Amino acid sequence: MTIRLLPTTTVNRIAAGEVVERPASAIKELVENSIDAHARRVDIVLRDGGRSFLSVADDGIGITREELPLSMERHATSKLLNDNLETIATFGFRGEALPSIASVSRLTITSRQKQAADAWTLRVEGGTKFETKPAAHVTGTTVEVRDLFYATPARLKFLKTARTELNHVLDTVRRLAMAHPEIAFSLRDGERQVLKLSHAQGDMIDARLDRLDAIMGNDFAANAIPIEADRDGLFLSGFAGLPTLNRGSPTHQYLFVNGRPVRDKLLYGAVRGAYRDFLAHDRHPLIALFLDVPPEAVDINVHPAKTEVRFRDAGLVRGLIVSALKHALAAAGHRASTTVADAALGAFRPEIGGVPVSVHRATPISRNVSGPALSFQAPVAQTADLSRLDTAPTARFEPELVTARDDPAESFPLGVARAQVHETYIVAQTEDGIVIVDQHAAHERLVYEEMKAAMEQDGIKRQGLLIPEVVELEEVAANRISGRATELSELGLMVEAFGPGAIVVRETPALLGEVDIQGLIKDLADDLAEYDEALDLKSRLAEVASTMACHGSVRAGRRLNGKEMNALLRQMEVTPHAGQCNHGRPTYVALKLVDIEKLFGRR
Ligand code: ADP
Ligand code: MG
Repeated sequence: MTIRLLPTTTVNRIAAGEVVERPASAIKELVENSIDAHARRVDIVLRDGGRSFLSVADDGIGITREELPLSMERHATSKLLNDNLETIATFGFRGEALPSIASVSRLTITSRQKQAADAWTLRVEGGTKFETKPAAHVTGTTVEVRDLFYATPARLKFLKTARTELNHVLDTVRRLAMAHPEIAFSLRDGERQVLKLSHAQGDMIDARLDRLDAIMGNDFAANAIPIEADRDGLFLSGFAGLPTLNRGSPTHQYLFVNGRPVRDKLLYGAVRGAYRDFLAHDRHPLIALFLDVPPEAVDINVHPAKTEVRFRDAGLVRGLIVSALKHALAAAGHRASTTVADAALGAFRPEIGGVPVSVHRATPISRNVSGPALSFQAPVAQTADLSRLDTAPTARFEPELVTARDDPAESFPLGVARAQVHETYIVAQTEDGIVIVDQHAAHERLVYEEMKAAMEQDGIKRQGLLIPEVVELEEVAANRISGRATELSELGLMVEAFGPGAIVVRETPALLGEVDIQGLIKDLADDLAEYDEALDLKSRLAEVASTMACHGSVRAGRRLNGKEMNALLRQMEVTPHAGQCNHGRPTYVALKLVDIEKLFGRR
């Protein structure tokens, strides 16, 4: 065995294996170099999603003739001024990106330094440098990369379709652009302009909102809560979407540490933790969070692509994020995202902007509607759900509600109840429209919030049953319930074993009202079968509360009188997070009169 030093090109290709995974990672390195060079604009061009060609042009400080060849040397950097890895303020510092990319592709770098009279260009193919030559170029730098991975066929095979690669590039550029609203960005793939962002104007906050709006869309800007919090020198800012504006994947969560886009598990985990009470586990909020910490509080040198970081005090970071988000969400009160109403209206309309909308199960008519001759000429008839028109009407109007004119009427945010329909929905009139409340979803949320608050204070109030109720179960199920008796009593439910295969219930949580005890105990037994033995019920409070609320007196299908309905509305208004149920579904939909008028062609 002989030990030898590897040739430079081989070393660089090994590094390329870590740093450059696909076109998007090359773009990331090149754009970061442009940002480090104080560029004010960055223009990116791709062909085939970057597979055959990619280039990044900037108007930054440029590179001198002498330094061009040096920039292609491994571990050559202009950025690590005092050799101090503890206080890195630039994206780059390892001097690895350019030599890595150049070792696996055909690369040309052309640059004109700020004070220089001429521009120079250098070509590198598969790691072999050519001669530096004069060129034509304005101040700034352009790097062109052809045939990425031609020199490493194994890696080439892992590239996906041009479309997929383009999407990765787009995501990368978006993330970098969000952190730098002061820089204009453009991205073209072949003939197609994929992204165009002009310099955002105004101070940092305005500029950032401008940029987020351009990237994440108006829905986000309209339904996000500003975040601002600091703790022990850490500063958190940005915007958090309302829980009802959620997605099936976390791709719309943008997290930054000191202006650097990261995909850090700790940070994602903190976001998940903060939203846990408001979203089903497979739904994800939209969010853009910027964490600024002193350079020495974070190590960014733990991942080749620097997308993961290590915090000196991870607990502090997590605590800051969770508490800032929770406070912001609580302050949003009962607000539900406006997209909910848009989706509802969309379901009534035939289509919006040419795209068919089918958000709320707008089923086409599948059978003839019986009864008096109904003729629908309006486009509404094509998509609205009419399948129930021939069933008996179940709307109940409380006479005293409809006629009472002395109520403070529409001054309540959620209005005054006018009717209950299908024994499930409360229809309320507000100052400028109507609100439809899903009574069950709303009640579920109220029960949960009340239980949470009560647990923190003096415990959940119980109400004794006149006659204790016996529930028969399978023996394992009964044991599961009696095994958790202490915990259940803390949640307001007093149970005892009652011989093999039976449970006796003596007290129930007062906030549930009248309870269907048989159903509740059976469902709780099912829940417990699913829960981890080690996990205490308090940490599953949302689920327990949901189950309990299901069997309380306001479940779907229960008649409510006017007083009860209004009480529910008033309680929603003062309960934090009342805009969504425990799974992130909205508890109410608000329709503005102007929108209703549009539906009827009055506007
Ligand atoms: P690093 O960014 O870690 O320093 P790179 O290999 O990415 O390493 O770049 C090497 C050097 O080339 C940088 O330190 C910088 O001096 C110079 N350089 C690269 N890209 C640019 C650019 N777009 N504008 C000006 N200088 C650049
Ligand atoms: Mg770099």
